[in-house]
Amino acid sequence: MRVLIAEDSGPSRLALERTLAKWGYEVVSCRDGEAAWDVLQQENAPRLAVLDWMMPGLSGPEICRLVRQRGPEPYIYLMLLTSKSQREDLIEGMESGADDYITKPFDQHELEVRLRAGLRILKLQAELVAAREALREQATHDALTGLWNRRSILESLEREQIRAAREGAPVGLLMLDLDHFKKVNDTYGHLAGDMVLQEAARRLQLSVRQYDGVGRYGGEEFLVVLPGCDEPALRGRAEAMRSAIAAQPFRSADQMLSVTASFGATVFLPRQLVDTGQLIRIADEALYEAKRLGRNRVIFRSSVPEPSLRSAC
Ligand code: GH3
Ligand code: MG
Ligand code: MG
Ligand code: MG
Repeated sequence: MRVLIAEDSGPSRLALERTLAKWGYEVVSCRDGEAAWDVLQQENAPRLAVLDWMMPGLSGPEICRLVRQRGPEPYIYLMLLTSKSQREDLIEGMESGADDYITKPFDQHELEVRLRAGLRILKLQAELVAAREALREQATHDALTGLWNRRSILESLEREQIRAAREGAPVGLLMLDLDHFKKVNDTYGHLAGDMVLQEAARRLQLSVRQYDGVGRYGGEEFLVVLPGCDEPALRGRAEAMRSAIAAQPFRSADQMLSVTASFGATVFLPRQLVDTGQLIRIADEALYEAKRLGRNRVIFRSSVPEPSLRSAC
């Protein structure tokens, strides 16, 4: 564990450095407040800091305030070290955002146990963050393929439509469905089917740009949201994805399976009054048409309504 020590008095700093190094901490040492604040702003800054109260540049409590103003993460455990020992000083120190407070000259054993208390808090906090991230991942991603789940990809489409309307850019949408997938399950088993879904997801993900979204819409159906893609670009991208699935057989145990997918494609254009549900329906109709025409193909359908007979006249 790395610990930041900020202490302007040379002998005191040296004593701290030696003591903490003896206990196995990796010490980053500063002789004034400005330098300590610089260190705390770095990526991978120490998560535990022992700050002297009075220092040139910034005082210990001023550093505490700056760290807390920055926000709750990453959490830095802040310990003030000072010769001030009045009750009001303690309150002022803790009010500035310090987690603990130790008076000089410090008792080695006391410092040791207080540092360990800080480590416990940091460990708990890290576990909390990890648990929250795991929950977020579970809530937004599909467990089998790791892609966005249905709700997340629909939210992403809605968000991109709003952004596109504001920025005057198109959004491409693809809905694809693996062909005769039931046969894969029936012939090779459900596990082989799962593997095909995972591999198809991997190939789709590899053939999009970083800011495109790929989601699992249902069993063997996927949605791809491509911001900024107009019709010609979308047709090209869809064709590349179709061939990413169809061109190379899928390996399952010692079998090689050929897999294909059918694609329905449409583009949302800004100034169009088409909501997410309608856009999905259009892509779904195009997909249905691709199935009807023999599968393993891309069918594009415009989301601009056909001019009515009356307006055409
Ligand atoms: P089509 O070309 O018309 O799409 O034919 P299909 O056989 O792909 O379509 P159908 O809708 O009849 O079958 C889809 C199959 O996908 C049925 C279902 O058991 C399977 N499936 C859905 N989700 C999963 C999954 O998570 N794992 C596996 N192994 N199979 C799944
Ligand atoms: Mg000092
Ligand atoms: Mg299918
Ligand atoms: Mg299906």
